[in-house]
Amino acid sequence: MQAEGALRCRGCGSPRLLIHPARDGLSIAHVDCDAFYAAIEKRDDPSLRDKPLIIGGGRRGVVSTACYLARISGVRSAMPMFEALKRCPEATVLRPDMEKYARVGREVRAMMLALTPLVEPVSIDEAFLDLSGTERLHGMSPALTLARFAARVEAEIGITVSVGLSANKFLAKIASDLDKPRGFSIIAGEEAAAFLADKPVGILPGIGESARNRLATLNIHRVGDVKRVDPVRLQAALGRDALRLLALSEGRDARPVRPSREAKSVSAETTFSTDLARFEDLRPILWRLCEKVSGRLKRAELAAGSVTLKLKDAHFRLRTRTRGGLKPTQLADRLFQEGEPMLRAACDGTPFRLIGIGGGDLCGAIHADRGDLADQTVERVARREAALDRVRAKFGNAAIQRGLVFTGDSTGSGARPEPERRRS
Ligand SMILES: [Mg+2]
Repeated sequence: MQAEGALRCRGCGSPRLLIHPARDGLSIAHVDCDAFYAAIEKRDDPSLRDKPLIIGGGRRGVVSTACYLARISGVRSAMPMFEALKRCPEATVLRPDMEKYARVGREVRAMMLALTPLVEPVSIDEAFLDLSGTERLHGMSPALTLARFAARVEAEIGITVSVGLSANKFLAKIASDLDKPRGFSIIAGEEAAAFLADKPVGILPGIGESARNRLATLNIHRVGDVKRVDPVRLQAALGRDALRLLALSEGRDARPVRPSREAKSVSAETTFSTDLARFEDLRPILWRLCEKVSGRLKRAELAAGSVTLKLKDAHFRLRTRTRGGLKPTQLADRLFQEGEPMLRAACDGTPFRLIGIGGGDLCGAIHADRGDLADQTVERVARREAALDRVRAKFGNAAIQRGLVFTGDSTGSGARPEPERRRS
């Protein structure tokens, strides 16, 4: 605690002083705009500033973004609009203006690129930055550079960001989420293991539903449990992922910040513990990957105009097949519709060790899954997936994925999995 105005940051004038012993040694940042869509609308209409605001509705009928006032009433992203308005009846609801948000996202990105060329966009309002070696250029440490950046975004663009600074991407991403909105958090490499120990193991990147289930059989629920387990048993349960898991549980993450102007594709893949050759075995896995890619496209506000199937055989030979020229989509169902026949054709008895599916020829979500007279099913599928997304938002991925994976492979009929019916 400090007296009003007693100490102020010399870099940005903020009364929130950031003093951390490792502050000046860290250079990997994750920057995330706060309630991005809502913040832009409040900026553009000051009469909304002190009112709860929800962006969403329309075709999906769900909340895209809720401002922090609406969040106090319990409104959350992906919540059905009727539920959101039950919790916060006085909220103003606006339809998203994606073109405007994309424009503001580009302005924020341009300001990031003035700090370092090493900017890796994650979505429209979020990116990793590697500021190593920029002290000389900016005449100050990465921490101060980022604090100035946050203040400039507020002053020049009129929205706020939260910053996480750490030794790697994984920790930076966790840090940016610690103190939202207008947050600036630091996790030093050496304090990471202690910080992570009591967090659920799902906080680690790449630890999804199936890995969590396998870890649960080893009694690993929290990050700190990982190192208590015999590495040989860990290896047996997770294969080559065991090493990565060990590293992450100690706060180590070697993934570099990869600069890219725009994502070229959005994909997901999985390596099997034993090779698989049968179409019936691979098909439900493909469906699950399509759901993953669909989720990533939706989060990044993107749609894919091509679908690529990737298979790796036991000798590490890669096979890829692509279908292009599609109507842009972000729906799992439509990705699967393209991927499934390519998979069927590829299944010639060869045992595969890896399968992946990706969406390419990306464009903005605004162009995605427009139904027309010739193809009215698209709207129906979009509505169904939105309903599934809501279930996931409420109960987690397990509610739907598990049912599909365990029952989806017993049919082998070639019919597409029906997510609703197979929900366990
Ligand atoms: Mg955000």
